[in-house]
Amino acid sequence: MISLDKITKSFAGTNAVNDVSFSVPEGAFLVLLGPSGCGKSTMLRMLAGLDQPTSGKIHFGDTLVADGASGLSAPPANRDAGLVFQSYALWPHMTVAGNIEWPLKIAGLSAEARRTRIAEAMDMLGISALANRYPGEISGGQQQRVALARMIAPRPKVMLFDEPLSNLDATLRVEMRFELLKVHAASRATSVYVTHDQMEAMTMATHVAVMNNGRIEQFDTPERLLAEP
Ligand code: ADP
Ligand code: ADP
Repeated sequence: MISLDKITKSFAGTNAVNDVSFSVPEGAFLVLLGPSGCGKSTMLRMLAGLDQPTSGKIHFGDTLVADGASGLSAPPANRDAGLVFQSYALWPHMTVAGNIEWPLKIAGLSAEARRTRIAEAMDMLGISALANRYPGEISGGQQQRVALARMIAPRPKVMLFDEPLSNLDATLRVEMRFELLKVHAASRATSVYVTHDQMEAMTMATHVAVMNNGRIEQFDTPERLLAEP
């Protein structure tokens, strides 16, 4: 479903991502695992359409979404992809329902369709009671649930996560792993999840890409990576 062909991203002559190729099938939960500075966020930004590859191609299914050679980089809104950040990035002046509604308005859904999607997304994340609250009035864990609800409501084919749990305490982090996997399974989307936490990677992933210095050093299932000597 997602395939990268010889993707390189240079900043001022240095390769943040260096000749990366892989593909994962529809429904995969791919974790990009590696230390700070290894190029994980740069990879995610290129998948989202927030950064353009210097060279190489990215396909979502049969659709070419980025091509370094021609300069093609489909804008985020045209990729059928949703993004969740570490810092939730909710709009503080909008209610929970209003936050979830915003991308549905951009997508042009009718008021009735929006209400249905908002109710479904809030139900999935267990936040229906918070519909009329503002982000500043709810906890960090609840805010991250709102961010997840906002991402799934438009039903994206690709879901992108940039260390979404790292601001939460340890107990909440484990709880949210399960919420997130539930959302992934229900959506039938293909997910890419960035983390430096090996435990998180091994418990969540169907596929793990171990990154170092802009390159993928290992690419396998968690079971096979853990079985290696
Ligand atoms: P990670 O997410 O794994 O911490 P990043 O993708 O953020 O890594 O960064 C990879 C490398 O690219 C780092 O050396 C970083 O300094 C560099 N880099 C990232 N973004 C930029 C940018 N906009 N300009 C210059 N260098 C950048
Ligand atoms: P407004 O933007 O009109 O001030 P809100 O911010 O309260 O309204 O809600 C934004 C949108 O979310 C509204 O269009 C409303 O129809 C919808 N909405 C609010 N509460 C719910 C709910 N519990 N279930 C589904 N949709 C809701």
